[in-house]
Amino acid sequence: MKKESKTSNITYKRENGYAKISPDQLANIKKFSQGYLNFLGKSKTEREAHDESVKILDKAGFKNLEKFEKNKTALKPGDKVYKSCAGKTLMAAIIGKQPLEQGMHILGAHTDSPRIDIKQNPLYEAGEMALLDTHYYGGIKKYQWVTIPLAIHGVFIKPNGKKINITIGENPDEPVLCISDILPHLAQAQNAKTMAKGIDGENLDIIVGSIPVKEKGKKEAIKYNILKILNKKYGIVEKDFLSAEIEIVPAAAPRHAGLDESMILGYGQDDRVCAYACIKALLNLKQIPQYTSCVLLCDKEEIGSVGATGMASNFFENVSAELVNLTYRNYSELILKRTLNNSWMLSADVNALLDPLFPGAFEKKNAAIINHGLCVTKFTGSRGKGGANDANAEFMAHIRRIFDKADIVWQTAELGRVDVGGGGTIAYLMARYGMNVIDCGVGLLSMHAPMELAGKLDIYMAYAGYLAFLKDTRK
Ligand code: MN
Ligand code: MN
Repeated sequence: MKKESKTSNITYKRENGYAKISPDQLANIKKFSQGYLNFLGKSKTEREAHDESVKILDKAGFKNLEKFEKNKTALKPGDKVYKSCAGKTLMAAIIGKQPLEQGMHILGAHTDSPRIDIKQNPLYEAGEMALLDTHYYGGIKKYQWVTIPLAIHGVFIKPNGKKINITIGENPDEPVLCISDILPHLAQAQNAKTMAKGIDGENLDIIVGSIPVKEKGKKEAIKYNILKILNKKYGIVEKDFLSAEIEIVPAAAPRHAGLDESMILGYGQDDRVCAYACIKALLNLKQIPQYTSCVLLCDKEEIGSVGATGMASNFFENVSAELVNLTYRNYSELILKRTLNNSWMLSADVNALLDPLFPGAFEKKNAAIINHGLCVTKFTGSRGKGGANDANAEFMAHIRRIFDKADIVWQTAELGRVDVGGGGTIAYLMARYGMNVIDCGVGLLSMHAPMELAGKLDIYMAYAGYLAFLKDTRK
């Protein structure tokens, strides 16, 4: 006769993480979210997130891989290295005990976030004001970005290579910028439009000033005054916008949110929340890992991972080749291919939390719920899993084993009801190598909005889950 299973084991019930965590874990959540808040506040662009991450890695004793490459210094288990791509994309690794061709354990997040970019010929005058013309970056709901305080972050590069960093609008004593919207009294025409068309993309222009210079006969005297201010403070001239990357982001620091302080509200949590959790997991590997542990922080995910700093470039593969070259006596492409093919990866990107105000967008049983922990998303894509990275059940089973063994609070999740929409991450680009990849990150409310909301328990569990994954011995 068949043995009867215990009734308590044959059903699966999803549970709120606060019902099962220990007082120790509760203290860890608090501590971790404070560190995250600091990181998020300093990382409002992909360049800033890159620089903050390099600072953290340097402090933890990681060395620039380029020095090893130049001196042909062999890498050995326990060595900590990183390599940067154009100051935007970053790969960090701790060499493991197993030979590289056994595969790496990779955490991959992205550090670019939806925002508004300044065009190359931006400055103009209209309505006796000076404005900057823009082109938005990534999938934004345009109406969310008008009438809120905005800050400028970016770089001007002079033809001689000199880099001028600018940040305006973050300190309380600095001015902020904004985009206007039509008053409700005169919004009849706008109100008749769909929300997608209520604000024209070409009109997401930033108001930067209104005082004309007092020079007689001076044309565009308000614009001229703004140029004088920029020239005095930064030494830049109008032509320098040609070789600049200036990003407009919400001018506000991230904050604890909720009367119980259980959440974090802030700009750019997609995907700096996972980026931070990945870096912290790598740093807190106290022992040399069995498999080489690797963290990838990429740029350009929000516009399709294209370009030299996007995941679709060869940067990751090239750095992996350097690692092979420095850990084997004889480099071979076959070893590189095996290294990539045998790797395991968590694509560390955010997912959508069930929003009780928009229940129609979600299927409750499979939507991510706040405080239910780290979200594991078996497949992404849209309309019949189109464009999805659909992870193997076999790999999913490994993830279950790893997370359950380490007492991680985690849940499975999907991005919305079937046929409501969808989305993707960098997962499919890594899956090309034949490696096991699954999406695994933090759930957000109001994703891509100027202010996104995340649960602190979920953020901490992302870190703890990533750490357990890096430590795993595949047994
Ligand atoms: Mn993302
Ligand atoms: Mn996104």
